[in-house]
Amino acid sequence: MLIDAHCHPFDFFSATGKKLESPNKEIFFASSAWNLEQFLFNKASGANGVHAFAVHPQLPVVNPSLVQGSLETLYRLASENQLQAVGETGFDFFNEEFRSTEKLQTELFIAHAELAIAKSLPLILHIRRAMREVFTHSKILKKTSAVVFHSYSGAVAEGESLLRRGVNVYFSFGSSILLNHKTAIQACALLPFERLLTETDAPYQPLRHDFSDWKDLLAILQGILRLRGEKTDINGLEEQIYENFHNAYG
Ligand SMILES: [Zn+2]
Repeated sequence: MLIDAHCHPFDFFSATGKKLESPNKEIFFASSAWNLEQFLFNKASGANGVHAFAVHPQLPVVNPSLVQGSLETLYRLASENQLQAVGETGFDFFNEEFRSTEKLQTELFIAHAELAIAKSLPLILHIRRAMREVFTHSKILKKTSAVVFHSYSGAVAEGESLLRRGVNVYFSFGSSILLNHKTAIQACALLPFERLLTETDAPYQPLRHDFSDWKDLLAILQGILRLRGEKTDINGLEEQIYENFHNAYG
């Protein structure tokens, strides 16, 4: 069976006109949305889905006028108990433009983390060039039921340090481990096996096509198998990732 710990079924459909399809294996996935239309589409896109919602950390730059409405939708869905996770939230300091909204990103991050704690929901993190902020806020992260780092790009030592601080953290890897991202490859090879997840971030992190999709999970699993020293085969790996997904998302 396959696990996609972070994907956007609505965005994939908008980009390709097609629905995400699993390559003849059962798939369990976690979808993310920042508006209601996306959320409802994601919810209808497969039986084995966990559905998350958050104000995306890029939204203050990409579409500032939609931030307030997105936040209101987040609270409404949470109060109706429609959420199974909160995310993706976090910090995107990839360039100066994104960094210019640091104050608002921080406020939003704290609001999302507090909501996840109040509702006992896992928190999905989007972190670009902002590991320092993660450590600044590790106390609040420790109070969440689980933290899933989507497309983890931190160092091995940073991941281990979060675990030592008592954060129930899972590290999700996708195409980056096949595209020669050395930090991600090292983290995927060395962080504890029971903390690893696979993801596509579909449609946003393509391998060789224009868009990533669920078929890429097969190549990502093979990539992890090559990196890990455990005496396991592809079935053992799938089993472990499924167990990790279950532990992270409940
Ligand atoms: Zn994403």
